[in-house]
Amino acid sequence: MLTRIYHVTYYLDIRSAYFQFAGCNFSCPWCIRRLTPWDHHLDSRTLASLRAGGFLSLRAFQEVADKLVSDGMEEAVLGGEEPTVDDALPAVIRHLAGRARVRLLTNAYRLTAELLDELRRCATCEVVVSIKTLDAEKHREYTGKPLEPVLRNISALVEAGVRTLFETVLIPGLNGPEGVERIAKYLRENVGDAVLIIDPLIPVPGTGWRRPTEEELRDAVERAQRYVAVRMHGEGRRSRSVVVYPSQLLHKA
Ligand code: SF4
Repeated sequence: MLTRIYHVTYYLDIRSAYFQFAGCNFSCPWCIRRLTPWDHHLDSRTLASLRAGGFLSLRAFQEVADKLVSDGMEEAVLGGEEPTVDDALPAVIRHLAGRARVRLLTNAYRLTAELLDELRRCATCEVVVSIKTLDAEKHREYTGKPLEPVLRNISALVEAGVRTLFETVLIPGLNGPEGVERIAKYLRENVGDAVLIIDPLIPVPGTGWRRPTEEELRDAVERAQRYVAVRMHGEGRRSRSVVVYPSQLLHKA
């Protein structure tokens, strides 16, 4: 069985691997993947050296994961584009569960019964749901998909007892401080004691969306803190990183 995992990086200092899946059911114009298909935390020289190696088979993924575990990996982050478009995702999680903490980054548009079951059983898993906006019209306009399935799947995750955190990108003119406050209020009313991670937009050239100012960021944080616990993206996660797949040595040979 093939997975849709095409890129793996490892963060040495925090013992965290980042497994990146190809493909997404949304089409957000601000998507960081428009800048590079690779982990954008890598230095420019490494980024320039990478060549596609194809999707990992489930067996190859297991071998990579087992080697990382034996080298000390404590956390596996599943992200990239959208991991839930991969039908192998439940098997990927099943393999990682119990070997490492698992953090699934998702837009929560697609949540199959099999995936929900796997997450429910996985004591070391947490899900981070990215909420783009609570404005239903803007959601459809910018992601290409309706908002309602996302909200329904958030309820399903919470009701199933899956540890779930939330994330949103602060985008002036689309999801500004008021939009972030609206999301925080929604979470307070529908989830309870939620954690909301706020990411300032990293602008993609040619898309017209700009980086928020420090003042806008402060405003968004203060508004959200009235309802939920707030974290900033990347807090405490700075680390040296290396490429695990595709192997650079392989491509130099
Ligand atoms: S959901 Fe995430 S990966 Fe998919 S298009 Fe939007 S920003 Fe990109």
